[in-house]
Amino acid sequence: MPVLKNIGVLSSGTTSGPQGQVYSISDAALVWRDETIAWIGAERDLPEQFASEKSFDAKGALVVPGLIDCHTHLAFGGWRCDEFVQRCLGRSYSDIAMAGGGILSTVKATRALSKSELLERCVGFLKEISTFGVTTLEAKSGYGLDVASEIKILEVYRELQKRPEIQLMPTLLAAHAIPTEFKSKRGKYIALIVDELLPRVAAERLAVFCDVFVDAVAFSNDEARIILQAANKVGLRAKLHVDQLADTGGASLAAELGAISADHLEFISDMGIQALRQKGVVAVSLPLASLFTRQSPLDARRLLEQGVPVAVATDFNPGSAPSFNLPLAMMLACTMNRMSPAEVLNGATIVAARALGLHADIGSIEVGKRADLALLSASSVDQWLYNFGSNACRATFKNGSLVYGAL
Ligand SMILES: [Zn+2]
Repeated sequence: MPVLKNIGVLSSGTTSGPQGQVYSISDAALVWRDETIAWIGAERDLPEQFASEKSFDAKGALVVPGLIDCHTHLAFGGWRCDEFVQRCLGRSYSDIAMAGGGILSTVKATRALSKSELLERCVGFLKEISTFGVTTLEAKSGYGLDVASEIKILEVYRELQKRPEIQLMPTLLAAHAIPTEFKSKRGKYIALIVDELLPRVAAERLAVFCDVFVDAVAFSNDEARIILQAANKVGLRAKLHVDQLADTGGASLAAELGAISADHLEFISDMGIQALRQKGVVAVSLPLASLFTRQSPLDARRLLEQGVPVAVATDFNPGSAPSFNLPLAMMLACTMNRMSPAEVLNGATIVAARALGLHADIGSIEVGKRADLALLSASSVDQWLYNFGSNACRATFKNGSLVYGAL
């Protein structure tokens, strides 16, 4: 039963506590058996029976639950740096997309990669993501947009699920954009998703969730309803990209469809907030995307005050958020989304776990939960998110095993 000693401060939310509530123990110790937390407390109270067990020295670190990035687009080919430069010079996204850029250019690059090339790239990402203290990650498909390429991405995710450093939760996002070859036959593409892709993904258990990008340039509410009702029937729970550029009633749609989360929500209406609250849908804020595309950020305060939990994630993707730096997204959630550091810590741990249906198992440091931990060079959660210049993570434990750093 390994013991983590010499913890400067241990800070965590709890499974049932309010989002603004974090408990802290100074000069703490933590014990786990196999993969599960067995004891937490002040080190001076450490029971005698653990005194001779194998121990790790946290060297005064701040210890928080392993971080959970509940919204990423992990697997894709190429980058879109050229587009970034054009956008800096004032070119609009629609101009860029019309000239062959945007999501469809990433689709081309992703289709061109073999499964092993895509896997190798993702393994590299996971290793880096682990250095930020992230221990669980949701990963969407959506840059394949045909049956073979979407399956290829989800099979890469299945391989990644065998890796020790990060637990991966796969999402089918075939409804990310209409692929070029279906440009004038949208209905046929939706039928392909419903009739071919969804049954196969469900039969092979390649995804846990099904997501749809609802937007004027992507899919309508009615199209999303068709896809997500079909997904529900085969056991894939709904997630949605909604209300990002305008209020299209996306939050209400997420509530209607029993979605586990509604993501983006920059333009959510008061009615949408009430709908999320009534149905217990988790809102997911993606401040890196708001910052990078210079769009209005979500006012998370409005949601929190109405009792809607708000998770914080990166939206890692090559177009609107080319970064998997979750602590940076957390700092921005404080400044741009008007959340307190305590709310943000819970937003990237226990609330994010709720957005993945994993809150009984991970997301907080409590006896009986997995020993997923991030060790940080900071004196408190407030200090950690305030000093955002460098990566404060010294070590990461996943399921009780040290997967990054040296102690
Ligand atoms: Zn996204």
